[in-house]
Amino acid sequence: MKEQIKKHIRILQELGYEYIYTEKKMTESNLKEKIKKLEELGRAIQECKKCDLYKSRKQAVLGEGNPEAKLMFIGEAPGGDEDKLGRPFVGRAGKLLTRLIEAAGHKREEFYITNICKCRPPENRTPTPWEMEACFPYLKQQLEIIQPKVLCLLGSTAARAFLNRHVAITKERGSVINWEGKLLYLTYHPAYVLRNQNAEITLFEDIKKAIELAYS
Ligand code: URA
Ligand code: SF4
Repeated sequence: MKEQIKKHIRILQELGYEYIYTEKKMTESNLKEKIKKLEELGRAIQECKKCDLYKSRKQAVLGEGNPEAKLMFIGEAPGGDEDKLGRPFVGRAGKLLTRLIEAAGHKREEFYITNICKCRPPENRTPTPWEMEACFPYLKQQLEIIQPKVLCLLGSTAARAFLNRHVAITKERGSVINWEGKLLYLTYHPAYVLRNQNAEITLFEDIKKAIELAYS
């Protein structure tokens, strides 16, 4: 546990969080509390059997990143690589997301990255509305712990989970929507961009805008 806190503090310091020096004790205990709660949540989802996705998962994938992130990236559900490694967005789509965040002059570790569903659907099918509803309380708890300002929703499935309606993402990407005191920023899923290369520039611009919104 101690090593993990030190690691997060080091990352925050590298990112220029100077208050860590001046209010060291308070920040450390807040951060410690957040990490503890996230770890508890991580254990809870490994045991979770609320929907049938537990049957085919290797492991549930909570998410990863800065427990103090102002911006959270939210995808659909883990794929094969994520299910194997226990980390979000580490396959082809994840590598594209990471590359675009870096091209925008930022680091992946600066933000928090997760999914609507924490377990991989068989053959990477889209999670059903019921599966998304069953898993949503875990995401809600993550939001309560991390308290991000902006949620960048990657793809129509993530947007649908928040808005409870069908979302035509090509029409609605770029929209900013108020949601429970936070801002939703809608954009493409990186897997869509892998199939439609000319959408890459748009996803890149959207990521930059979401970052700008989070820090403004
Ligand atoms: N696609 C997603 O929606 N989430 C991941 O974590 C990886 C791929
Ligand atoms: Fe539980 Fe979510 Fe996994 Fe379903 S997808 S079993 S609700 S953790």
